[in-house]
Amino acid sequence: MIIEEVDVSGHEDFANHEKVMKCFDKSSGLLAYIAIHNLNLGPALGGCRIWPYLSEADAITDVLRLSKGMTYKSALANLALGGGKAVIIADPKTMKTESLIRAMGRFVESLNGQYITAEDSGTNVEDLKLMSEETSFIAGVQDKKLSDGSEATGDPSPATAYGVFVGIKASLKQKYTNDSLDGIRVAVQGVGNVGRNLSKMLVDAGASVMVSDTYQPALDRITNELDVSVVANEDIVQQKVDVYSPCALGGALNMNTLVEIQAPIVAGAANNQLSNQGAGDYLFHKGIIYAPDYVINTGGIIDIFYEREGYDHKKVMNHIDGIGATLADIFRLSVEQKASTQLMADRLAESRFLGELRDAVA
Ligand code: NAD
Repeated sequence: MIIEEVDVSGHEDFANHEKVMKCFDKSSGLLAYIAIHNLNLGPALGGCRIWPYLSEADAITDVLRLSKGMTYKSALANLALGGGKAVIIADPKTMKTESLIRAMGRFVESLNGQYITAEDSGTNVEDLKLMSEETSFIAGVQDKKLSDGSEATGDPSPATAYGVFVGIKASLKQKYTNDSLDGIRVAVQGVGNVGRNLSKMLVDAGASVMVSDTYQPALDRITNELDVSVVANEDIVQQKVDVYSPCALGGALNMNTLVEIQAPIVAGAANNQLSNQGAGDYLFHKGIIYAPDYVINTGGIIDIFYEREGYDHKKVMNHIDGIGATLADIFRLSVEQKASTQLMADRLAESRFLGELRDAVA
């Protein structure tokens, strides 16, 4: 196994990364990168992605961007964590072998805890459990006990959904000075693990929920379980609702959909909702309250952080409740500084992990 540091200082996505390591292991075929963006607040936690990148250059660009994003996310979630990410260049459907996963575990171990890995696209809990036989620097694999005494798996989706629920309430408070969900109309796009759990919380709190999905079994499941209405996926953005909640894939807020949004609030779990910085500015100028995705969807990372600290479900829920206060700060800064919530969230994160109190932070 050859592990070496890669010089990325000239890369356009360098962003002061602490280090990027490359690993090549001939016997298992592992070709992987781990990027550590920042360690100021703690060890770098971030998922391990397996993807058939067309080139090593593409993999490096992805790992640099993703690891930087994790620094911001953890800082905004008030966690003692830095940002990092791992990518394996391989097709997860055909090239994921036991020896490849084990070799990745040894690569993670070689960083002596500077990087803690977790699930991402292409990896699952079984892969992580296998990796944990090679390294202890793993998160998101343990079964846990909830406050009602029931058992749950390591799956962070219910915690993510709870964080989005808290974030929707904070957004309602900003808009209507009242965070009651009674009679509030919410359009949830994508009812997979997060969207389904979120819809249940919303319905239980008295909201009227409409949903869409591109996968019929997901719709069948939710309509069997909950009193929700279904709309065609291409129509969900245009619904006259109080909250539009993108919980499917990234890029939901793009030049086609932005002009169609009728809701005064956009608050959902999906990663990378804004197709670019301009999309955030557009929402701000249109007077739509946007809860930045990497703030509102931090319930899952908070959940897996506590798995390593000693899991206490009540403590986890209390920490997730803090998403509401962080969003309230971001909304206030956005009004005061006449700038998008996305920009204000970035500034707030930087003030935390760079330790500089900027003008943006009161
Ligand atoms: P999931 O795969 O369980 O569910 C996604 C659902 O969206 C599926 O039912 C899928 O059929 C549907 N979908 C896909 N494309 C769609 C489209 N164009 N329109 C409507 N529906 C579509 O994923 P998840 O775990 O529920 O995560 C949802 C989003 O939240 C993702 O963007 C994910 O990255 C993000 N997220 C999830 C977590 C977590 O803890 N699971 C944490 C942070 C962020």
